[in-house]
Amino acid sequence: MKNKAAFVYSDQLLNYKFHANHPFNQQRIKMTLDLLQHSQVISDKDIIPPRFALEEELLLAHDQRYINAVKKAGMGELQADTAESYGLGTEDTPIFQNMHEASSLIVGGTLTATDLVMQGEYEHALHLGGGLHHGLQGKASGFCIYNDCSIAIKYILQKYQAKVLYIDTDAHHGDGVQWAFYDNPNVCTFSIHETGRYLFPGTGSIYERGHGEGYGYTFNIPLDAFTEDESFMHAYRTALVEIVEYFKPDVIFTQNGADAHYYDPLTHLSATMRIYREIPKLAHELAHQYCNGRWIAVGGGGYDIWRVVPRAWAFLWLEMIDHHLEGQLPEEWLHQWQKHAPVSLPTKWEDEDNIYPPIPRRKEINEKNRITVDKVLQIINRSNSNTKK
Ligand SMILES: [Zn+2]
Ligand SMILES: [Zn+2]
Repeated sequence: MKNKAAFVYSDQLLNYKFHANHPFNQQRIKMTLDLLQHSQVISDKDIIPPRFALEEELLLAHDQRYINAVKKAGMGELQADTAESYGLGTEDTPIFQNMHEASSLIVGGTLTATDLVMQGEYEHALHLGGGLHHGLQGKASGFCIYNDCSIAIKYILQKYQAKVLYIDTDAHHGDGVQWAFYDNPNVCTFSIHETGRYLFPGTGSIYERGHGEGYGYTFNIPLDAFTEDESFMHAYRTALVEIVEYFKPDVIFTQNGADAHYYDPLTHLSATMRIYREIPKLAHELAHQYCNGRWIAVGGGGYDIWRVVPRAWAFLWLEMIDHHLEGQLPEEWLHQWQKHAPVSLPTKWEDEDNIYPPIPRRKEINEKNRITVDKVLQIINRSNSNTKK
């Protein structure tokens, strides 16, 4: 009998740390685990420590020159102008001590999760340290140094010869992963995000559809700023159900950035905790329906680490183990973390009603998102009608 789900974690993952005031803060993983432990829905035997990625594994998605630069930067030996040409030492992605080692452990954690699932030991595996979807082949970008998602997917292609569906629900476009597989028909990428019109990284339009043999295997749904739960879920659900039927993956890999919430300080969507229950639920159902359960999940963005991320990521684990919790959060958890928090922690699993004032353009936004989804799915509907002829 397979184990249901593994939680890949060790405290060493918290060494991926730019500086005290940087929005990317891995303490959110510890807070999530602590929440799960106080809720008594995870035990020590569910927790598997990450390994380090080997250099040859990093090379699956990165240039040697870039890896050398990251190593040097982490030892304080990279000159500022050279660093900048690799996207290092910028405001977004500052240099920190031993950044190569810390980043290699993040990648290794995602590879650990990948092997647990692909070797059939576990049905699902979760590595919240991963999800660094902006990392590019030769360049750091948007808080991401090595792209654990791209590396793990290349690793799956090479070692397991499986077709991978990558689902990215971070509020930012999953650009690094998209470009890594843009011409590859064995990897389908689906990213739903806030439109890049005003938001980093600026890409992720509906017209980015893949290239060469990979044409038709890249899907983007750029949502309007201020999009709310219902419209988000309608777009996600409608698109994903069609994409999975069209692509028929062997394994589902999800990136679970939790920065589409209204409280997130870096983005402009208006989602609530509701979507963080629903997003993994559909991915989970589809993994059982199409992939014999094979589902690898990683974290990603998420910058309200107090009010949003721990609950959102706990929902992901609860979904994996088929468990449901609602109502009050554990007292001990609130007691433990409230003293560190600059804001009042939520006391319940769900958000209160009306955490934000009504969105005046709601109707227009919903309509625009609906049209976007229709346009994105046209490529599938066209190819379906061709096969029927
Ligand atoms: Zn993000
Ligand atoms: Zn399951």
